Amino acid sequence: MNCLSCSSEYEKVEYEGQNLLFCAKCSLFWFTQGQLARIDLISEEFKEFTDALELDEEEQELDAERCSCCDLVLHSRSYTTAPHVKIRECYNCGGMVLNGAQIKEIRENSMSPTQVEAYLNQIKHSVPGFMEIEHGRKNGGGFGKFAKAWQKVRFWDRDK
Ligand SMILES: [Zn+2]
Ligand SMILES: [Zn+2]
Repeated sequence: MNCLSCSSEYEKVEYEGQNLLFCAKCSLFWFTQGQLARIDLISEEFKEFTDALELDEEEQELDAERCSCCDLVLHSRSYTTAPHVKIRECYNCGGMVLNGAQIKEIRENSMSPTQVEAYLNQIKHSVPGFMEIEHGRKNGGGFGKFAKAWQKVRFWDRDK
C-alpha cells in the first residue's frame, strides 16, 4: 500500500506488538479501527516519537483521499477539540490517516466521552443511509465499526 501524501510505499513499523503502516518521508501513519488509541496508550516509544514533531498546518493536504483498506472516499473534518487539525477517516471501516504531529495535537486535546457521543450522533444523522449499512458494506464495515473506533479513542486519556 502507498502513502496517501507522497505515494511512496508504506513501511511496516511495530510498536508493542502492533504493526502499523508508516511513511518515514511524511511521518504519516495509517491506522486500522481502534489502533491509534491502543498504541498511543501503551507505547512510550510511539508517544516520544510523535511528541517531538511540530504541526505544520499548511502541510496537512493529501494527494489521495481514499481508504487504504476499503478504497472508499475518506471523510475529512476538523478535529472537534483542535480545529486546526484536519483528520481523515473512513466511515466504513474506521480507518484513519494522520501524521505524527497531528497525533500529538489530538492527544493533547482529546475529546470527552460526551463530545465523542455528540460526534457519532451528528454523523449518524448527517450521512444518508449510514445506519442502513450498519451491518456491513465492503470489508464488513459500516457505522458499527466506525463507532467502535471512536469509542476506543474516548478512553484515550493517558495524561489526565
Ligand atoms: Zn509519504
Ligand atoms: Zn475503510
